[in-house]
Amino acid sequence: MSTPAHLLGFEPTRTELLRRLDAVHPGEYARTRNALDGAVTGLSPYLCHGVISLRDAVARVMQKHRLGYDDKLMFEFAWREFFHHVWRREGERVLLDMRPAHVWPGTYASELPADLREGRTGVPVIDAAVRQLYATGYLHNHARMWLSSYAVHLRKVHWRAGADWLYGHLLDGDVPSNHLSWQWVAGTFSSKPYLFNAENVAKYVPRQGFESWRAAGTVVDQDYAALEQLAREADDVGPEPGQHEGVVEPQLHAAPQPAWVTEHVTPLTATLPSRREIELVAPWAMGEREGGAGAGAGGPWRLGVIHLPAHAALPWSEARWRWVLQRMGAITEAAFVGDATTLASSVRGWPQPDRVLARRSPMPGYDAALGPLGALREATRLLPNPPETCRSFSVFYETVKRQSRSLQSQLNGELS
Ligand SMILES: Cc1cc2nc3c(=O)[nH]c(=O)nc-3n(C[C@H](O)[C@H](O)[C@H](O)COP(=O)(O)OP(=O)(O)OC[C@H]3O[C@@H](n4cnc5c(N)ncnc54)[C@H](O)[C@@H]3O)c2cc1C
Repeated sequence: MSTPAHLLGFEPTRTELLRRLDAVHPGEYARTRNALDGAVTGLSPYLCHGVISLRDAVARVMQKHRLGYDDKLMFEFAWREFFHHVWRREGERVLLDMRPAHVWPGTYASELPADLREGRTGVPVIDAAVRQLYATGYLHNHARMWLSSYAVHLRKVHWRAGADWLYGHLLDGDVPSNHLSWQWVAGTFSSKPYLFNAENVAKYVPRQGFESWRAAGTVVDQDYAALEQLAREADDVGPEPGQHEGVVEPQLHAAPQPAWVTEHVTPLTATLPSRREIELVAPWAMGEREGGAGAGAGGPWRLGVIHLPAHAALPWSEARWRWVLQRMGAITEAAFVGDATTLASSVRGWPQPDRVLARRSPMPGYDAALGPLGALREATRLLPNPPETCRSFSVFYETVKRQSRSLQSQLNGELS
């Protein structure tokens, strides 16, 4: 079996990020992105953690390729900007139904059934996706769509339970993109529920390397009218008949184990260097130091911050914790793992807020904890952030395109 390149090694390093970026080919992407072995970029863990901003990523791709608003790759990048626009405007409301869904009148389950969590539903494509998720922390967009649609519409799991679970296991788990995508699939952030059938799976799953990713002969092997009826009228369809072998779900942790912390970062001691600006580096702002790696002495003193209370509701896999800690250790002088609201009072010499910098985070709880410590700057965006919440992607994209003549002018900061 040949493993698609986008699934190989997501090391949390700039070198790996640049390797991936330089391999991006917008033309191939447009032609093949829907297929599981298509030329997708595997950039999501890096964009999610701010190892690079979308703006800088696009600028680098444009050094080698022409890219405009109508390119498929740009279109997908814009989905990320759209979800983050909604997050900035609506905040934690993205964790609740954005609008009422009128799909199924029953009560959706608040937990995933064990057979789904353990990849033994008997629907091979779903079980394979669960296995791949646990093994790699990554899924192709189509696999995420199939998995979420199956969970919500056929197994009657509330989208929020599914979203929290998937978020915990992904290396790129991002509240705006993940939770709003689940809502899009569920129909609480779109005009209709997203459904898929076995024919759709067969179209995008290549034969080689994905032998087990099948759906033929299962509950989704029906036409869309029948599936829609199941979504709207039936209770949980349950797993396929018979015994199916499963996998053990990796544990999710509300906090990293102390050994992982000491292995990857320098824990913060009680005193800070005097007369230096402090830059708080949350897990979503793990870019290079401005001015490059050698700029350490003159620039702000970088303190990694993991605000644990925020993770109690949305725990992470060990792989995600280690990814974040390893990257944080490489770009900060020290890291604090605990309740960030206690930082100023518990650390000797904590500076006045005007000497503390931080960026806004797309994770509930972080801005409220870091905001009082210093000046929160907006995360760098590629596209404008319209003042009113755009209720759909198409409204958002039309709005931002009206505001800037071309992608190049947007990068240059020119307004039309
Ligand atoms: C149920 C569900 C949950 C999802 N959860 C997340 C999540 O937690 N984090 C996350 O980053 N994306 C999420 N997505 C969106 C998308 O599936 C991933 O961004 C994409 O698969 C990441 O792989 P890639 O980098 O190879 O993508 P590529 O196809 O190579 O795309 C390049 C980049 O564009 C952005 N992008 C592409 N497609 C989308 C999309 N549909 N929505 C938003 N951004 C997109 C991502 O930043 C991605 O890295 C989710 C989608 C669904 C349907």
